[in-house]
Formats: sequence, structure tokens, C-alpha cells
Amino acid sequence: MGSSTGLKNVWMSKYFNICLLAIVAFWFVGCAEKQLEEDAVKVPEYVMVVHGGAGVFDSGNMPEERRKAYYSAMEDALDIGESILKNGGRGLDAVTEVIIFLEDHPIFNAGRGSVFSNDGINELDASIMAGADLNAGAVGGVSTVRNPIVAARKVMEQSDHVFLTGRGAEQFAASVGCEIVDNSFFFNQERFDEMMRVRESVMKEKENNSDRGTVGVAVLDSHGNLYAGTSTGGMTNKRFGRIGDSPIIGAGTYADNKGVAVSCTGHGEFFIRYSVAHDLNALVKYRGMSLDSAANYIIHEKLAEAGGGGGLIAVDAKGNYSMPFNTFGMVRGVVKPGYRNTAIYD
Ligand code: ASP
Repeated sequence: MGSSTGLKNVWMSKYFNICLLAIVAFWFVGCAEKQLEEDAVKVPEYVMVVHGGAGVFDSGNMPEERRKAYYSAMEDALDIGESILKNGGRGLDAVTEVIIFLEDHPIFNAGRGSVFSNDGINELDASIMAGADLNAGAVGGVSTVRNPIVAARKVMEQSDHVFLTGRGAEQFAASVGCEIVDNSFFFNQERFDEMMRVRESVMKEKENNSDRGTVGVAVLDSHGNLYAGTSTGGMTNKRFGRIGDSPIIGAGTYADNKGVAVSCTGHGEFFIRYSVAHDLNALVKYRGMSLDSAANYIIHEKLAEAGGGGGLIAVDAKGNYSMPFNTFGMVRGVVKPGYRNTAIYD
């Protein structure tokens, strides 16, 4: 009798342990599933990062009026992009519209506010890329296209090519309905004086803030697609015919849904030689680095050690973003649901 009760107790306690184990196992599985769901939910509906150029004045020398103008332009840029993205619009439209706005704003070195090359002409570069299919378009050295980003998008969508330059780019832009202007449209006394000062070498290299203001946008939209675009007048007093990194896919701009969307700004020759935009994509996509560590490594180690001044803005498919720079400052902004920020310095 006693032994049968003992046996029963043993079975009961075994049964109890099994039940307990099952409950704990279910609890763990439930928690893990919840965490997975939370992780999925954490990908924001959209993220847009914008830059208005690296290499601005050091904070002590930034005139108050200019500082205010940068902040206000960044806020307006975020408004334009967000109004498209929050209504389910395409990231491609957000990139295009925001860059058109920045190109038309005289404070930035893109479109209307472009710097001068050494023959006193404005030669503009721009590019755009879609991460879903790696489609891309770019124009280089155009001097009569009001909004080079529009021409770059047309190259992507309405030509068999990726990159058109000079006369061919202008002829194509006119044929697809881009607004064509006289080069004097880009004349800006302040930029012209800057070019003359640089030409006369009054400014020492380190004090040369005259290239500031390239613009760029990188977006993750609500369809899960990444896009990036960049537009610039290049570098003050550049040799005419010089093309920088901004219109070069893989140097100044890149977008890949399996990696990142990125737009760069800075001393273009370094960004070309180091294939910065594609390098960032490769470090994230193939090496599995986090976006932020890869971006910081490129800007603060690789480029800084080589003497290449500049920065980048980037976003990945999970909605992470990064905006490192190794210059005094970089005009920049970020917006996603429930959050926005604009900044120039650290
Ligand atoms: N990267 C541009 C160029 O070299 C200039 C800039 O971003 O400031 O043309």
C-alpha cells in the first residue's frame, strides 16, 4: 500500500514537473514571438535624412542670419518630404521634391546657389538612385538645367543610360521637358566673390568654407524601398570640366534595398577614390556591420586618415539612420513618425 502511494507521488511530481516545464517553454516561446513582433513593429513607416553640405563655418564664425536660414530651410525640407511619405507616397518623389526645393534655395551649393568653376561658369552635378532595382540616373557638368536632380531622374526613367554629361546631358534634359535657363540664372555675387578670393589664394585651404552647401536626401518609404539623391555645384574654383563625386553612383550616391541609401558631401576627389557610398553599402550588406558603425568607420577613420573632409547621411531598410561628418559641421535633418531633428554641429 505504502509503496503504491510512494509510486503515485513520484508520478504526480513527475507530472507536475513536466507541466511546469511545458508552461515555462510556452512562456519563452511567447516572449520570443512577442519580441519578434515588436522588432518588426519597430521598423518605422518612413525615415528621411537630409543634408545641406559639410564643411560649414566653425560654430564661432557662423553668422546668426545664416544659421537661422539653414535651420529654417532644413525644417521646410523635412516638411516637404514628410508630407509625401506620411501619405504613402514614394520615396523617389520625396527625394526629388526635397532636392528641387534645396536647389532653388540660394543658400545651398546646388542649383541656384551653385559655386563657380575657374572660368566663371556654374557647372552642376546631380544623381538619384532606387534601391529596389538599382536603377540610377545622373548628370554632370550641366550649366543650363535649372534643376539637375530632375534631369538625373529623367536619365534614370527615360533613357537607356545612367550618366550623361555636358552638352549631351543638356540636350537630353531639354528634349524631356526639363526647365532650361541661361547660365546667368545661377549668378550669385557672394559665390562669385568667393571664387575670386579662392582664385587669388587669399583664403588658406583650412579656412575655405566656400564649398559648403551640397544637398542630398536618403529615404526609406512606407513600401520598404530605399532611395537616395545628391545635387551640387561642386567645389569653388574647380577646373572647368571637373566632375565630383555627387553624380557618380557608388561615390556620392547609392541605394540598395538589401543595404543602404546614402548621399555624401565633402571633398569629392576622396569620395570618388574611396568609393564611399558603395563602400558603406558593402560593409553593411556583405560584412553585416551596423549602419552607424560602418558610416563612422568610413568618415572618421578611412577618410579622416586620408585627409578627406566631409560627411554622409544614410538610412537602412530597418529604418536605422546615421549622419557622421569629420568637418566643423554638416547641415542636416531627420524625420520619421513622431520624431524630427535638425542640426549643424555635434
Ligand atoms: N562633394 C562635392 C564635390 O566634390 C562638394 C561638396 O559636397 O561640398 O563636388
